[in-house]
Amino acid sequence: MSLLKVARLGHPVLRQLTGAVTASELRSALLQQFIDDMIATMKEYDGVGLAADQVHESKQIAVLEVAGNPRYPDKPDVPLTVLVNPKITPLSEEMEDDWEGCLSVPDMRGRVPRYKSIRVEAWDRSGQPVNFVANDFHARVVQHEFDHLNGKVYLDRMRDLSTLTFLTEYVRYWMPR
Ligand SMILES: [Zn+2]
Repeated sequence: MSLLKVARLGHPVLRQLTGAVTASELRSALLQQFIDDMIATMKEYDGVGLAADQVHESKQIAVLEVAGNPRYPDKPDVPLTVLVNPKITPLSEEMEDDWEGCLSVPDMRGRVPRYKSIRVEAWDRSGQPVNFVANDFHARVVQHEFDHLNGKVYLDRMRDLSTLTFLTEYVRYWMPR
């Protein structure tokens, strides 16, 4: 396994639409290794999610996991999930604001409105269809990663930039305790 270099805001790859993965491509040892590397990279940097274009591969693949994460200590666990070619559908119009950060926008947080409940349809890493409902923080993480695959970052979704905060100030003034 190897750790991958994370693209930071300003790298053009973060603003491109990613390409769909074919079934045969997904079966290849190369792509399976890449998915393992994405998971290792997400864990190394304490991410709760990582999109392939964040590690310079413009493909529709995202990984997510929340498990006692030190960057998001107040959030419930989400099992390790690999989403290939995901589609999301909001299940209601209801939205909620909460803090987000991003490995491609280091050391910052901002409040972002997201749908509270979404349906997620994708392939897993073996090409099997997955279809589930995600709520609250789980739904937030999926929407954040899905945006990456469409060339968007969380800053684009903020109502305005008035809550944009450095991590140190977030911990000092805004972190729930
Ligand atoms: Zn991100």
